[in-house]
Order: sequence, then structure tokens, then C-alpha cells
Amino acid sequence: MIRTRFAPSPTGFLHIGGARTCVFSWLQARRNKGEFVLRIEDTDRVRSKKEYLDEILESLSWLGIDWEEIFYQSKRFDIYQDYAERLVEEGKAYKKEGAIFFKYEFKEIKINDLIRGKIVFKELPKEEDVIIKSDGSPAYNFSCVIDDALMEITQIIRGEDHIPNTPKQILMYQALGFALPEFAHVPLILSEEGGRMSKRFGATSIREYKDEGYLAEALVNYLLLLGWSPGSNREIISLEEAKETFNIKDVNKTAAAFSLDKLNWLNSEYIKLKPLQELVPLVKEFLQNRRFLPEGITEDYLSKIVKLFKERTPKLADLIERAYFCFYGNFEYTAETEDILKKDLSKEAEELIKRFESLDEFGHDNIEKEFRATASDLGLKARDLVHPVRCALSGKKTGPGLFETMEALGKNTVVERLKRLIAYWNTNKPKNQQ
Ligand code: GLU
Repeated sequence: MIRTRFAPSPTGFLHIGGARTCVFSWLQARRNKGEFVLRIEDTDRVRSKKEYLDEILESLSWLGIDWEEIFYQSKRFDIYQDYAERLVEEGKAYKKEGAIFFKYEFKEIKINDLIRGKIVFKELPKEEDVIIKSDGSPAYNFSCVIDDALMEITQIIRGEDHIPNTPKQILMYQALGFALPEFAHVPLILSEEGGRMSKRFGATSIREYKDEGYLAEALVNYLLLLGWSPGSNREIISLEEAKETFNIKDVNKTAAAFSLDKLNWLNSEYIKLKPLQELVPLVKEFLQNRRFLPEGITEDYLSKIVKLFKERTPKLADLIERAYFCFYGNFEYTAETEDILKKDLSKEAEELIKRFESLDEFGHDNIEKEFRATASDLGLKARDLVHPVRCALSGKKTGPGLFETMEALGKNTVVERLKRLIAYWNTNKPKNQQ
């Protein structure tokens, strides 16, 4: 049976790179009806923090990753010590100044990496390494080998930054008499410019992506595309579907470049595709967490607003600015709308108000009919009225369809805001008409 693992150190938050390695490792187990193990490498007592651990576990669950078993290396120090003592007895390791050192018996090592193919290690820069430090904690390479062997991991899937560790670990496997697993080293993720990922270019924690309003399904889909492709130019694929086709051997050998635009595109696709009844609770929670949602907003109203923006929202955080006017009326007309408001259309606005007030049912079709009738009766093109009215409603130049917007806001709000625009025209008499 295939058993894979993800072995994060809780010395920092879970980032894009780690999450992607984890997703690949998890998929490899799931695809093969195997098992997936989570191993928390918390041997560094000073740098390991509960805050990081909590974030890692929460983010993995949020992404849809589950595990059969979870181990904490901090609880296994006795095991590492025992194996180290055994090596000392066998003359493969020795004690010095309270620490235990392992002597590498190096000769050329070849592995057949599941992603990169043949890798040959011709030399090792070191002849020995500490395996148990003087404070009793194990060195990474040693605890990693003991655990991968005892946890019966058959395929070790990890970032390619660990390639230099692999020959050392193989020598330890051999010294300990454990059977060798297979290795798959996943290429790095580079920034869009081809350099290292930095905080400015996407190297933020998974939790931060969540807090920006990326959907878990979109983010996990994006992670998948960083080095793997479902084939036939397909880009949208769920974890469930990937479970049917994923093979670690198909992961690209070359580094993947992170693209925020692509992630935003995928996220907007997922927002678009998500059924309204699933999206509304997500948006509600999101806006509440941001302390943005005013008291007394009904589910029904929220649902109308979500519907209004669903087709064009890269991430939920964008709603805060874009849909501000749907929750608050205290926006200003901005400099960008100045041009639009130059022309005083108070009369037309008065007429619109009159017609809207006479409507029993304030729905899209009725609104549009009255809107167009007003424009043509007063000798205007509909579009000449569209811009100032949009501005009255939202303070903005662009936004969702005007008639849908009016329907969602409701008659009272629309009338109130048209009146506000008329008042503005009255107090700021446009120059050309003074
Ligand atoms: N704790 C190590 C890391 O986070 C694990 C490396 C491995 O997967 O072997 O880099």
C-alpha cells in the first residue's frame, strides 16, 4: 500500500509552497487508495509555536486535506534516542560532548526520483553529522529517517530544496537496516518575475489568502496547476476529480511560476460557479469577520447583493469596496465622477423619481421600461442618463448592470439617492449652467 506524508515544521505559517507539496502528497495517497500521514516536525522547542501549528492544521482542513494519522515528533524523542544508541553500539555513530554523531559511509548514490528521474550523488560535503543534539533533540535528517521508516512511508514527496538531504538520509536508512522508500522532489515555485517568492509576490500564508476571500476550492485548484496539469488544456478541476487522475510522476520537472492574476481569475470562476445558497453564507461570514456588515441586513437582501456581484468578483475582499454602496449610503461622489456630474439633469431625475414612485412592483423589467421612457420622453439617450444615475446610486463610474442594481437596492433607496443627487446639483450648480 502507498503511504505518503506531509511533514511541516510549526516554526512558521503554512505557505503556498508547503501547501502545494502537501496537496500533491495527499493526492498521490488518495489516487492509489493509500494512506496519508501528517507528521508535525516540532523538534525545535524554541521556534515551534502553537499558533503556527493551529494555523497549519486549520489551513489544511480548510483546503480539504484529511489524514489517517498524525504524529508529533516532540513526543518521540525516546525513540530517536534508542535508535541512536543502537548505532553507537554498532560503531556507526559515536558520542562526543553530550551529542551523538553519525559517520557517513559514503559511496556513490543513485536514486530514481519519481519526478526528476535519475539523480546521482557523487560526493557528500560532510563525513559526519550530529543526529542527537546535546539537548536531547534529534537533527532533522535523523528523526525524518526514523519516522519515515517506522511510519512505513513508501513515497517521500517533498520540496526540491531537500535534495541535498536525500543522500544523507539514504545512508542512515542503510545503517539502520530499513528498506528504502521512493523519493519525489517537487520543483520550486518562483515569483512571476522568475525570482524567489516574496511576501509581495504571493508568499503569504494560506490563512491570509482565506482572509482575502479566496475560496478554498479555487486556491487548491490553483495549487494543483503549479506543476501539474489535468490535461487537454483544462484548468478548472476539483480535488475530488484530481483524485481520479493524479500521478506524482506527471508533475513538471521545472519550476512553476506563481501568478496572482491567474489565481484571481480562477477564484472569480469559482465564485461565479458557486450556487447562491452556498455563496451567501460564505460572504456573510467573510463580511462579518471584517466587521463590515451593518446590523439588520436580511439574508434576502444579502442574497440579492451577492447575486449582483457574483459574476465579476475576483475575491470576496473586493466586495468591501465594490459593494460598499449596497450597505452604506454615506459615500461621496469621487473625483472620477466629476465629469459625469457636470451636466445638471435634475429635471430628468425628478421625472424618474415620479415614475419609479408610481411603480407597484420595482423589478428589473419595470425599472428598465420607465427608465427608457423617461429618457426618450425628455429627448435624451438612455446612456446619457445611465452614468449620472449610477453615480447617484453608488458614487462610482462602473459597476454591475444598472437595472439589476436598482432592483437589488430597492425603490426607497433608489429614490433617496436620486434626491441626494438633485440636492447636489442644486448646491453645486455646474459652471456651464450658472
Ligand atoms: N520539516 C521539513 C520541512 O518542513 C520536512 C521535510 C521533509 O518533507 O522531509 O521542510
